Amino acid sequence: MLIEDVLGKDGVISKKLGSYELRPQQLDMALTIEKAIEENKHLIVEAGTGVGKSMAYLIPFIFWCVKNNKKVVISTHTKTLQEQLIKKDLPFLRNALKSVNIFADAIDDNSHPENGQEDKFDFSYTLCVGGQNYLCLRRFHQAQSQGVFNTQKEFDEFQHIVQWEAHARRGLRSELDFEPSPAVWSKICRESDLCFGKQCSFKDDCYYNRARRKEYKAQILVTNHHLFFANLASDGRVLPDFDAVVFDEAHTLEDIATSYFGIGISNSRIKYMFDSILNPKTGKGLISRLFDSSNASDLANQMSIIGDMEKLLKDAGSASDLFFSEIIEKYGTGNKTTRIREKSTINNYLDKPLSNLFDLLESLSKQVKTEEGRLEIYAFANRCSEINNNIATIMNQDLKEYVYWTEVERKKSRYESYSDTLQLTNKLEPINHKQTRCSLLAAPINVAVEFEKQIFGKTRPVILTSATLSINGSFKYIKGRLGIPVCAKTDTEKPTIVLEQDGLGSHITREDGYCEKAIGSPFNFSENALIYVPDNIPDPNQQPEEFKDSIIKHIEDIITHSQGRAFLLFTSFKMLNSVYEEIQDDLEDFTLFKQGDKPRYQLIEEFKASHKPVLFGTATFWQGVDVPGEALKCVIITKLPFAVPDDPIIEARMELLKSQNKNPFMFYQVPQAITLLRQGFGRLIRSTTDTGVVAILDPRIKSKFYGKYFINSLPDCKKVSDIKDIKDFFDSAHNHVD
Ligand code: SF4
Repeated sequence: MLIEDVLGKDGVISKKLGSYELRPQQLDMALTIEKAIEENKHLIVEAGTGVGKSMAYLIPFIFWCVKNNKKVVISTHTKTLQEQLIKKDLPFLRNALKSVNIFADAIDDNSHPENGQEDKFDFSYTLCVGGQNYLCLRRFHQAQSQGVFNTQKEFDEFQHIVQWEAHARRGLRSELDFEPSPAVWSKICRESDLCFGKQCSFKDDCYYNRARRKEYKAQILVTNHHLFFANLASDGRVLPDFDAVVFDEAHTLEDIATSYFGIGISNSRIKYMFDSILNPKTGKGLISRLFDSSNASDLANQMSIIGDMEKLLKDAGSASDLFFSEIIEKYGTGNKTTRIREKSTINNYLDKPLSNLFDLLESLSKQVKTEEGRLEIYAFANRCSEINNNIATIMNQDLKEYVYWTEVERKKSRYESYSDTLQLTNKLEPINHKQTRCSLLAAPINVAVEFEKQIFGKTRPVILTSATLSINGSFKYIKGRLGIPVCAKTDTEKPTIVLEQDGLGSHITREDGYCEKAIGSPFNFSENALIYVPDNIPDPNQQPEEFKDSIIKHIEDIITHSQGRAFLLFTSFKMLNSVYEEIQDDLEDFTLFKQGDKPRYQLIEEFKASHKPVLFGTATFWQGVDVPGEALKCVIITKLPFAVPDDPIIEARMELLKSQNKNPFMFYQVPQAITLLRQGFGRLIRSTTDTGVVAILDPRIKSKFYGKYFINSLPDCKKVSDIKDIKDFFDSAHNHVD
C-alpha cells in the first residue's frame, strides 16, 4: 500500500468521503514526510492554509508505526487542533484504513508482523494530558475523610465533584460540567510528588494509571507543546518513550520551550505551600492531619509538634514578606516587569527559614507511622528545598546565558496603590498576598542548544510543520532560533553542515540529517482575497495621536463596507482600549466584542452568531482562531506586530544579537513580526470558498525598507490602496451579506 493509494485520486479516503477534493499539496506533503522517515532525516515543512497538514503527517506515520512497531508523538500548540486530531482525523483514519493491507507492497517477508495485522489493519492512539488534570483517588478519599477544605464554598464545590466521581469516565477535570476552583482541585488532583505509584492502594482503579497504560500501548500519542517540554524538563517522566515527533504549529516552539527551560518562584506560591503545611487561620493542613491526637503517640507530643511547626511557619512567612517587600521596593512597585542584570544584593531572608522547615519536616517523617504520611512529608520537604535552590539560583544568577527578572502584579485597592503606600509611609509595609503577586524568574536567552541536545540529537525523525515557518521565502530564521543547521537547502543536497550557535560560542557539526520544503496553499488567494494598504496614514512612532485618529477613520470606513464581520487586531491592550473608547459610540449598528469582556471561546462563538460583528483583540486572536465562511470577511491589522523590546527575554535576545554584530531588528524583531502578521492574515481564508479583505493600517509596510519583507511573506493577492476597491470587492455578489 502506498501513500497515493490513500490520499490520491480514487484512493481510500476519496472512496470514504463523498465530498473529497484531491489536494496535490497534501499528497506532496505526505510523500515528503514519508521520504524523511525513510531517510531518517529531520524535516521542516511549511504547508499553507488548507493543505490538510494533519492527514498529510498522520498517514505516513501511522504506516511507519504499524509496520515497524514504533511510537510517534504529535505535539500541537492549540487545544482546537488536538481536538481535531483526536475527535475527527484519527477516528476517521482508523475507520477508513481498516480494509487496507499496508504490507501489500512489502518485498521483504520479515517486515510482516507475526500477529496477522495484515488481515485487518489497525492502530491505536490516545490523548496525553498532564497528571494534574486527573482526579487522584487517594487524595480524593483523603479529602472526604479528613476534611481538607477551608470554606463552605470549597466544601460545596467538593460535594459536586463527589457526585461526578460516582460516574466519571476518565477522571479528567474537563469532564466536570463546571470549572473547579484551584483551591479545591489542587487538593484532589494527581501531583507527581504526592503520587504513591505502585504502593498506592488505589493503583488499580487510578484514573491516571489507566491513562498511562493506554499511553504505553498507543502508537500515536497526541499532546501539546507544554506537556512535551514538561516531559523534557522532568527527564522523560511525563510521556512514555517514543521514536519520532511531529511538532504541528511549530512556529510557537521557541516561546514554549523558553518557559519550560526557565525557573521561577513567587510569594503566592510560597504562601500556598506554607498554608498547605499548616494553615494559621484554620489550623488545617498536612501537619494537623498527620499528627492529630488519634495518630500521635500522645497529646503532648502532638501539641509540641504543631507548636514547633507554627513557630517555624510564622518565621518563614515573615521572612517571605520581608524578602518580597524588598524585591518590590528595589525593582519596582505597582504592576511592573523589571530585568535584574546583576547578582542581587538583597538579603535572602528565606534561606534559613526554608532550611529549618526542611529539617523539621525531615525529622517529623520519622515519627509518622504510615508510608503515605511519610511520602507526603518528604514531598513538602522537597518543595521547600526546591524553592530554596531556585531562589539562590536566581539571586546569584547561577545559570549562564539566562535572563533574570521580577514581575509584580497588583490588584488595585479601592483607595490607594501600593506605591502610594510606600511613598506615604516611607517604610516597608507587609505584603498583602491577596493583592500583590511578586515573582522572580529566569529563562534561557537561547534555546537552540537545548533543542539540539534534547530533541534533534535524541529523537529522529523530528518533523516541524506550520503554515508560517518561512520568512521571505527562507527557513533561516526558524532554523537559527531552534538550533537547526542553516545551510541545508533541499532534500537532495548532502552538505556537511557546520552550525554556529548564536551567542554561545559552541559549534555543532552534523552530517546532513535535515531537509526542508515549503508547500503552497491550495486556496486561490489572488481571486479570493484583497490586501488593502491605504496611503497617508501618519507614522505610529512619530505621530501616535494622528496615527490613532487616522486608523479610527479607516476602520469605520472598512467595516461599513464589510458590514462588520471583522477582526480588529491590535498589538497592545492600551491601543485597543483607546480605539474602542473613541469608536464605540459611532458603531451603534454593529455588534462589538472586546477581548477580556468574556472568555475567548465565548467571544468567538457569539461573534459567529451575531449580526455585523466586530471583534477587538490583541495577541491571542492573531493565531489559532478559526472562523470559516461568511462570519469573517475582514481582518484589520492596526499595527505591524513587533515584539516589545522592554520584555526581558526579547531585550536579552536582542542584546545577544548585538553582541554578535547582528542587527537585532532585522535578525529578530522583523522575522518575528512577519510570522505573526502571516498568522493574522491566516485568520481570513479558511476554506476554498472563503473570500475577504486584509487591511494593514501601519504605513511602515510601505514607507520603510523592511516593508517589502512583510509583503513578500504574504500570499500572492491583489494589493489596493483605494477604499473604493474594498467597496467594489464587497459589492460583488459572492461577498455580499444576506
Ligand atoms: S496511584 Fe497516584 S495518582 Fe493514582 S490514586 Fe494513587 S496516589 Fe493518586
